[in-house]
Amino acid sequence: MGETEWFFNPGQAFFEKPANTVKSGITPEKPATKQQVSYGVQEKEKPLYSPGKHTGEQTIARKNLHKLYETVRDCLNCPLGKGRTNLVFGEGNPDADIMFIGEAPGADEDAQGKPFVGRAGKLLTRMIEGMKLHREDVYIGNILKCRPPNNRDPQANEIEMCEPILIRQIKIIKPKIICALGRISGQTLLRTKSTLSSLRGTVHDYHGVKFIVTYHPAALLRNPNWKKPAWEDLKLVRREYDGMEL
Ligand code: URA
Repeated sequence: MGETEWFFNPGQAFFEKPANTVKSGITPEKPATKQQVSYGVQEKEKPLYSPGKHTGEQTIARKNLHKLYETVRDCLNCPLGKGRTNLVFGEGNPDADIMFIGEAPGADEDAQGKPFVGRAGKLLTRMIEGMKLHREDVYIGNILKCRPPNNRDPQANEIEMCEPILIRQIKIIKPKIICALGRISGQTLLRTKSTLSSLRGTVHDYHGVKFIVTYHPAALLRNPNWKKPAWEDLKLVRREYDGMEL
């Protein structure tokens, strides 16, 4: 079996967390041991490489992100504000090199105030770990910070109000690469109606940052056949980020 097939092999529980998966927000300074990086039966001995910036210290980016959060936390600029339980600002390493951007919080995210914490979020964590990264090392956010009713697609006025917050987050975090999760996220940010299949596989530009579009993890839960092409996208993200071949 190839090194990534465990990841996609229909006979296995996709992205199920193996017992000995690394559990960490701490970036190892040295290549991790085999035991630390073992994601599954076919995992090769490869060092776990992380962007290595997540120290938890009060960096300028952390302070500025917090300031930004303070200015938007009570936002009522669009009708979604009234209906929310929590504004979902985003979470992760304020100095991340890689950002993942979804469309909008769902019910679990609204309840907890954190992005991608439901089933799709758990899959996203597995995808990130498959890229030999820790969830805590990247930054995860959404275009909209408040949940649309019944998880409907974001509307133009909501995007107009909310996208500037995302752009300010990007300017503060200064990621090297952004991965858009899903058609809506890719189309909205790139201002295009192109299909997901035509957006995939290409490195776009979003406000001066490399921008790659892949499937939304919720779509991968619905259709596991898309996991294989999604893996190609994640490999592209990693390659574009630091040249690592997964
Ligand atoms: N889907 C999204 O696009 N974002 C989330 O935070 C959760 C689900």
